[in-house]
Formats: sequence, structure tokens, C-alpha cells
Amino acid sequence: LERAVSVKAFEPRCHNVAEWLSERQADMISLLAELVNIDSGSYDKVGVDRVGEALRSFLAGHGIASTLTPVSTFGDTIHATSGTGAGGPILLLGHRDTVFPEGEAQRRPFRSDGTRAYGPGVADMKAGLMMHCFVLAALKRHGEVLGPVSVLFTGDEEIGSPASRPIIENAARGARAVFNAEPGRKSGNIVDRRKGAVFMKLAISGKAAHSGSAFDEGISAIEELARKTIRLHALNERGGNVTVNVGMVGGGQSVNTVAPDAFCTIDLRYGVSEERARLVEAIEEITATSYVPGTSARLDVSGEFLPFEHSPESLALQDLYLATAREIGLDIRSEATGGCADSGFTAAVGAPTLCAVGPVGAGGHSPDEYLELDSIVPRAQALALTILRLDRP
Ligand SMILES: [Zn+2]
Repeated sequence: LERAVSVKAFEPRCHNVAEWLSERQADMISLLAELVNIDSGSYDKVGVDRVGEALRSFLAGHGIASTLTPVSTFGDTIHATSGTGAGGPILLLGHRDTVFPEGEAQRRPFRSDGTRAYGPGVADMKAGLMMHCFVLAALKRHGEVLGPVSVLFTGDEEIGSPASRPIIENAARGARAVFNAEPGRKSGNIVDRRKGAVFMKLAISGKAAHSGSAFDEGISAIEELARKTIRLHALNERGGNVTVNVGMVGGGQSVNTVAPDAFCTIDLRYGVSEERARLVEAIEEITATSYVPGTSARLDVSGEFLPFEHSPESLALQDLYLATAREIGLDIRSEATGGCADSGFTAAVGAPTLCAVGPVGAGGHSPDEYLELDSIVPRAQALALTILRLDRP
């Protein structure tokens, strides 16, 4: 009731947008179900593009044309804009890929118990994609927004956005605001800081030899990997912002061969951009040092996220969003997380950015993932009304 009353207090176009969204919950859930039931792992280009088709067809149904930037390896990038005018562009960002393998959507399709919805990617972040589409449709219908509002939907975020990063950065340059629709935290909070991450692969070469008859002639790449791993983990700053995790290891040829090769993957996380160089240098030094004489090693960066850091402009945008959310009865705040997202890229090019403005959910990247159904409409309203208020000086 309180919510309905306060929305009525808004100016007419805000009222119309909020009301139109409040009447769309069933349609929202049905589009969400359609998206969840399409497998779209990052490496499943066909699936990620099918999710894109579903979104494009929804937008077309609301009179919003979209364009497609082809990406050869991963899902194509989709861009749609509504509104024109003098104000700088407002960007609604989302990723269509999930971390789940092919067949997951068939094994556990979209399901709702009336309170929560379940299924692969239901929160991270198919609900956010769906929300962005409805917000754009609402603004087109009732908004009379000053300046263009765009959605940008990518297909490779879960693996560090190797193909979309320049497209995202380009779209964010000069944007008045960027809203990334990662799921709202369990508490409903949005996210105001994220760590940066560098994903690396370390490959070690040694020398094979029979481990019974010629042990002394061998050079063990696995022993070297073990010694390097201990030093890599020693870079961790407990309670601090820096973590280094060796997440995968492999190597060797047979039980009775001194291992000629070994590898590991490394996930480095850090809080502020100034720290990156020092940490990467430390990892390079461990790579270059042969703790087992005769071994050699090579380090490759396979993916990277920039930290999402505060700026005065982002904080001002956050204040506007949180105040708007309060007016429709949402008591939310902002919090930090170690998880990475595309918001780091948009913030790094100077665009005022808010992250985790999507509907509320948790358990991402696991079968326990869920979405709070009654958060869908209010989060869409909070976003749409914030955008309308960006008109004001
Ligand atoms: Zn996500």
C-alpha cells in the first residue's frame, strides 16, 4: 500500500512508467522462463545467440529496433536504443552467457514455487536482461526521457569478456550513467565495489626420465609446480584485499616417469587498480625463478577484469538510485564483493556506474541459484524511475 501511495506522488510520466511495470509481472516471469530454458554457456555461441534472439524479438514487439555486432567465437553483441535528444546516453548493461554446460536447462528447467524461481542463470543474469528490456519498453511507452537509453547485451562475461570488452568500453565512454543488471545481493543491496581479477595459466617444462632406472637424469616439472604453488599462495594477504588461488593443476606422463611438464591456473584478485602491477610482477618473478634447477616456465593471461571502484560521479548516481528505491519502499544499501563483473570496465573509462541493480537472487554458478519473484517489479521500477530523474539538473 505504501508503495502504491508513494508512486502516485510522482509526476505523471513516473507514475505511468511505474504503473505499467507493476502490471507486467506475469509477462516478465514468462520471458524469464523462456530465457532460462535456453542453454547459453559462454562457449555455446548458438545458445547465447538464441537468448539474444528472444530478447530482440521482445524489443521488436515493443517497437524497439536492435542491432547486432557479430562476434565470431562467442555470442554476438546486441545493442538497442530508445529515445533521442541532448542528454548523454544511459547504458543498461547485461550478459547473456551462463557458467552452465549444455543440457543443464533440460535437466533443471525454469521452475517457480510462487516465491522463488529456479533454473540455470535465473538470477545471474537472465532476470536482469529481462528487467532491462521491460524498463526500456516502459520508458519508450511513457517515459519521454531526455537523451537516449540503450541496452547492451554481451555473451562472454563469465570468461572475462574477451570479445566484448572493447565494445562495452566504447558504449560506456561519455555515458551519463551505466546500470549493470547483475543480481541484487541476498539482502537486496546493490554493489559499489568489486575486485579486479587476472586469470592466468602457468606452464612448466622439465625433462622426462625413467623414475626407476634414470631418476637423476630427470627434471620434475611437478616438483617445480609444487614449489611455485606454495610461493603463489604466500602472496595472499589474509583479511586484506589480495587473494591468489591456484585453481587447477595438471601434468606428468606416467607414474614411473619424472614429469616433463605441468601446469596450473591462477586467479589473482585485488581491490584497487594501483596494486595490479606489483602483484603481477610478483607472479612473474615466481614464474621466472627455477626452484628446481633446469625447469622453465611460461605465464599467460587468459582473462581479466578491472576492479569496480568508487568515483564521486558513481556515488552521486548511487545516492539518486537508493533515494528513488526508498520512495517505492525498497530499503537497500550498497556493499562490496570479491566477485568481478563488466562494471569494472565501464567505471574504468569514467562512466558513473551502478552494479547489481538486477532483481534479487543468490546461489549463482550453482544448482541452488534462485531469484526472489517479488523483487522483479520493484527493481524494474527503481531503475526506470532513477533514469527518469537523471533528466533533472
Ligand atoms: Zn553475472
